[in-house]
Amino acid sequence: MALNLLMLGPPGAGKGTQAERFAQSRGIPKISTGDILREAVQTGTEIGLRAKAIMDRGELVNDEVMIGIVRERLEKKDAANGFVLDGFPRTVAQAAALDGIMAGRDPLIVVDIMVPEEELVRRLSSRMICRSCGHNAPMGHGPVCALCGGELIQRTDDSESVVIDRLKVYHGQSEPLVEYYRVRPTFRAINGAQSPDQVAADLAAAIAAVCAHATRLPGVGTAAPSGVQP
Ligand code: ADP
Repeated sequence: MALNLLMLGPPGAGKGTQAERFAQSRGIPKISTGDILREAVQTGTEIGLRAKAIMDRGELVNDEVMIGIVRERLEKKDAANGFVLDGFPRTVAQAAALDGIMAGRDPLIVVDIMVPEEELVRRLSSRMICRSCGHNAPMGHGPVCALCGGELIQRTDDSESVVIDRLKVYHGQSEPLVEYYRVRPTFRAINGAQSPDQVAADLAAAIAAVCAHATRLPGVGTAAPSGVQP
C-alpha cells in the first residue's frame, strides 16, 4: 500500500518539520504548498507574484489555483509510491477536490497534529527560516542554517500580527477539515506539544496502526458513511 499521508494542524504545529522527517525516512516526496508558493514568489512566476500579497496578509490563496498546483504535483512519477502532503488541503473545497484527485489510488492517511494556541504564537513569532533551503529553526540558534549554511531570516508572515490573523484563518477555514476527515478509519490525532522526537515517534506509531487496520476496514479511501466514528 502506498503511504499517502496528509498532515493537518494549525500553523506552527510542526507539520513541516514532521513531514520532512517522515518523507525522508520513507523515501517519499514531501509536498508542501507553502514551500511551492514561496519558491514561486522567489522565482517571480505569475502565481508567485499574485500569491505574495495574499501570503503576507496571512490569507489563503485561491482554491482553484491551489488545487491545480497539487493535482499537477501528485501526477508526477515520484508521488506514485506515496507522499506527504503538508499545507494542503486548507479548505473543505480543497479536501473535496483532493478526494477526486485520489480516486482509484490508495487511501489518504490523515494525521492531525494538535498544539495549544499560546504555544503556537510563541513558536511562530520566534521561528526563523533558511533563505536558501527553507529549513526552519527557532531563534537564538545563530545566523546561519545548520543544514546548508544559508542565511536565516524571519518569514514575512511570522510577525506577531500576521500570526494572529493566520490563526484566525485556520480556525475559520481549515479547522473544519478535522471534522471532514475525523469520520474516516484512517484518521488519527496526535499531541504536537511534545519534543520533535516524541511527536515523530507518535506519528510513526499512528501510521503503523492505520496501516495494520487499513486492509480490514470498510470505506477506506472514501468518505465513511455518516455516523461512523474512528
Ligand atoms: P504555515 O506555517 O501557516 O503552515 P505554509 O508555509 O503552509 O504556512 O503556508 C504559507 C502561506 O501560503 C499561507 O498562509 C497561505 O497564504 C499560503 N498557502 C499555503 N498552502 C495553501 C493552501 N493549500 N491554500 C491556500 N493558501 C495556501
